[in-house]
Amino acid sequence: MARGADLTFATHLAANPRRTRREAMDVPAKKSKLIKGAKNDWEVVIGMEVHAQVTTQAKLFSGASTAFGGGPNDHVSLVDAAMPGMLPVINEECVRQAVRTGLGLKAKINLKSVFDRKNYFYPDLPQGYQISQYKSPIVGEGEVLLDMPDGEVVRVGIERLHLEQDAGKLLHEQHPAASLVDLNRSGVALMEIVTKPDLRSAEEAKAFLAKLRTILRYLGTCDGDMEKGHLRADVNVSVRRPGADFGTRCEIKNLNSIRFIGQAIEHEAWRQIGVIEEGGTIEQETRLFDPDKGETRSMRSKEEAHDYRYFPDPDLLPVELSPSLVTELRETLPELPDQKKARFMRDLGLTDYDASVLVAERDTAAYFETIVADGGNKRDPKLAANWVINELAGRLNREGKDINAAPVSAMQLGCILDLMAQGTISGKIAKDVFDIVWNEGGDPRAIVESRGLRQMTDASAIETLVDDIVAKNPDKIADVKKNPKAVGWFVGQVMKASGGKANPQAVNDLLKKKIGV
Ligand code: ADP
Ligand code: MG
Repeated sequence: MARGADLTFATHLAANPRRTRREAMDVPAKKSKLIKGAKNDWEVVIGMEVHAQVTTQAKLFSGASTAFGGGPNDHVSLVDAAMPGMLPVINEECVRQAVRTGLGLKAKINLKSVFDRKNYFYPDLPQGYQISQYKSPIVGEGEVLLDMPDGEVVRVGIERLHLEQDAGKLLHEQHPAASLVDLNRSGVALMEIVTKPDLRSAEEAKAFLAKLRTILRYLGTCDGDMEKGHLRADVNVSVRRPGADFGTRCEIKNLNSIRFIGQAIEHEAWRQIGVIEEGGTIEQETRLFDPDKGETRSMRSKEEAHDYRYFPDPDLLPVELSPSLVTELRETLPELPDQKKARFMRDLGLTDYDASVLVAERDTAAYFETIVADGGNKRDPKLAANWVINELAGRLNREGKDINAAPVSAMQLGCILDLMAQGTISGKIAKDVFDIVWNEGGDPRAIVESRGLRQMTDASAIETLVDDIVAKNPDKIADVKKNPKAVGWFVGQVMKASGGKANPQAVNDLLKKKIGV
């Protein structure tokens, strides 16, 4: 088991300069999270370099397809294979996507940026260099805000975003005596997004990647599919005594799941603390995370670091953006998760938690909004949020289904909520109707009629049931007289006898009257 798995955080009242919602609400100052080593308390410092595959049809400098899958080398143009004399031509859509992403990260858009050659030899890189942006990236400084579960708002500075090409892939297991190369990914456009060293825990690093992924998916600039490698992160980790200068960092390469990011950081922080507390020093190096062992191990040291001999690619002109293009992209940006969350809280009265859960996926937020906006029904947003989060999302999760393939549509769920609000069905029956629609489909209103699920409104019928249950349980009456809350037991019995169709409030009132509490 990874040592990091039993990482314990000491809580300290150390001054935390970062703004928190608690402070804004005048609640006592936020406690900071430090790691308790054998001898001292330590703060972990993290900065991330995230590679996000740009959502486009074609590659960054060629017309070859970016489609996932296909046979090896099905999507390779002469440019991607670096045949002599081939010239790269920039894909305008990739540039637009990078600018959109920059705007979504509230970042400075650089009207002039330059593509450089990053020179190195590797068999999956036929050009002998990667085209990337070095000194002049297309996007400069920006920020991402994290809503941590304890209410703290963490601001993560973005250092830059640049465009670059992906490399191909070596296949070592296809041939007994040779490695083969698949260039389908060669030349696919990536956005490298670099943060400032602003993250202070594995939890914050995980929250950052989740938030970045949400933003990218809202923007439609990267699908965020980590299983396909469309979003992956290099994580830089160092430790320091609180208030001291930054320590030497190690970089953990190519993490492709949020869980692994957390595990790798915790393990790496512990490793560094162990080394320093035993009198050693941290060497700057690149490390790899082994998910099976939960450990990081050295890949190469700083001395072995490549000298890439960057220089501007003579085949490509600098990218010059017109201010009007940036304005157009800014004006057509969709509503982003932070704005949507604020609107849900302000206009619909949702709690911070409910709003956060709903906006985490754009399609979930859209589903919720369809219910609330539909048909002039004046539906209660809080009730709708509850149902989407607990009944719908919960069940989708358990069954591994996507919200776009939800068996109960927003219209159908809206209709169930209306039946409940009109008093036609009880909350319990509403869950049954939801279940029927989930399994069999159909119009909720028609299901309620055809299966006789209407709530009992006939007062005398309810009274008959109440009288019957009261008469059969004289011993329990004494309990209720001592403890009026025990009336719940009677309510349950009457509800059961009515097949869930009596109105629980009416039953409750009637019982209290009859028993005299
Ligand atoms: P390089 O140019 O060597 O790649 P950068 O300054 O670009 O280094 O930093 C790369 C990443 O490392 C950034 O995400 C940055 O936030 C992070 N980083 C820099 N210094 C530290 C540190 N002392 N501890 C943790 N992360 C750091
Ligand atoms: Mg760097």
